[in-house]
Amino acid sequence: MPLRLFNTLSGTIDELSPQGGQPLSMYACGPTVYDYGHIGNFRTFLQVDVLRRTLNLLGVPVRHVMNITDVDDKIIRNAAAAGIPIHDYTARFEEAFFEDLDSLRVERPEIIARATKHIPKMVALIQKLAAAGAAYQTEDGSWYFRLASFPEYGKLSKKDLSGMEDGARVDLDEYEKDSARDFALWKAAKPGETSWDTAIGRGRPGWHIECSAMAMEYLGESFDLHAGGEDLMFPHHENEIAQSESVTHKPFARHWMHVRFLLVDGRKMSKSEGNFFTLRDLLLKGYKASAIRLALISVPYRHQLNFTFDGLIEATNAIERLRTFHQRLTSGTFAEGANAALQDSAKTAQAEYVAALSNDLNTAEARAPIFDLIRAANTAIDQGQFFSADKTAILAVLASFDRVFDVIADHDAEPTRRAVEWAEQSGRHADVAPELRARQSLTDEAIDALVAERTLAKKQRNFARADQIRNELAEKGIVIEDSKDGVRWKRK
Ligand SMILES: [Zn+2]
Repeated sequence: MPLRLFNTLSGTIDELSPQGGQPLSMYACGPTVYDYGHIGNFRTFLQVDVLRRTLNLLGVPVRHVMNITDVDDKIIRNAAAAGIPIHDYTARFEEAFFEDLDSLRVERPEIIARATKHIPKMVALIQKLAAAGAAYQTEDGSWYFRLASFPEYGKLSKKDLSGMEDGARVDLDEYEKDSARDFALWKAAKPGETSWDTAIGRGRPGWHIECSAMAMEYLGESFDLHAGGEDLMFPHHENEIAQSESVTHKPFARHWMHVRFLLVDGRKMSKSEGNFFTLRDLLLKGYKASAIRLALISVPYRHQLNFTFDGLIEATNAIERLRTFHQRLTSGTFAEGANAALQDSAKTAQAEYVAALSNDLNTAEARAPIFDLIRAANTAIDQGQFFSADKTAILAVLASFDRVFDVIADHDAEPTRRAVEWAEQSGRHADVAPELRARQSLTDEAIDALVAERTLAKKQRNFARADQIRNELAEKGIVIEDSKDGVRWKRK
């Protein structure tokens, strides 16, 4: 089944297929590493993760390139304020970014490209633009893109840019449509700023040229898909198109995917509103990384996501249902045979799940048949109508679900442990939820020892002590489950 995906450029839902043969070539704008990522950033990275995992599920391998912007106005300003070289400044935020991606189980792109490692490619592209009459140098030594040389400017964002002033310039990397002007490709060195000595003068690249140069370096002049947050559509992606197509005269990316903004409690997220959250903020409040992942991917990418704590709790409960059910199947033993109705339900659920994802990555619709199947299977187990072949069929559906959603297998302890450790090291001890602190204070070995002590106490008919241990653990978020195969525990 092919993936049908909305294409910002055509304005319609188009089939996405690799045109130059496999793998599918895709570029997604990465982070500017000047601070910790917030959940709005991570929604975009997670939806791109859903895209690449869905393509893989459908049998389409990808060659996915992501940039790291490790030099820009904000980085230079913040590094100067901290009195350290920009590389020292960006290194720790880059490390934090990848740690956060790991916490959220976002797969790594095949290629990660750092801007500062590709300066010669950017310079070469600016030279080609100059040769084509699309770039010019100003008196201070900076280079600008000549907007008037690219009449198609605005074709992606469909903005009416007719009021543009010819020859007026903007040297900021981010600006509104009203100030669409000739934009900076190369910024001449200013005293004290990081700069490179190159054939087009001493300076540093503008933000937009980075993505054009690195996308074409790894994917060629024309490639299958370009993705990013909707806030990048203008001016960043328009500028990427203008810079690239002015030189190649070929379509830069054939398909454009934009992930919509996230709201928090119905309002735009902002530090001054007090509704601004990094991933780490949420982990420290005691929410699991898997729940954050599920909450951020369950609303399809083309819809605005209204992030709420109720939504996080809903995601937490959904994961609990998935994991409890999965454990019920894997730990249970079922008689030989098959329940014909359940076998059908499993096939239908799998087909509906794949169809929903193939239909413009409709994650909300993709979830529904999985939970329907769990309900039907639980009923069958309760009625003794569940057999070994049903277990095999349904576990296969769950495995397929987890190839994209990736929340059933429990990897939650490590992100939480890391976040708590980070908080202790960065003076944010007070932000760690008390129950989390208590929970973290118990190592796996300590819990095993308590569970063993409880088993012994029960054997010795010391039920008071056994109950006491169970309650103590429960207070710290550890749940004990007695089954015929022995005692299991898990962190809630
Ligand atoms: Zn970009």
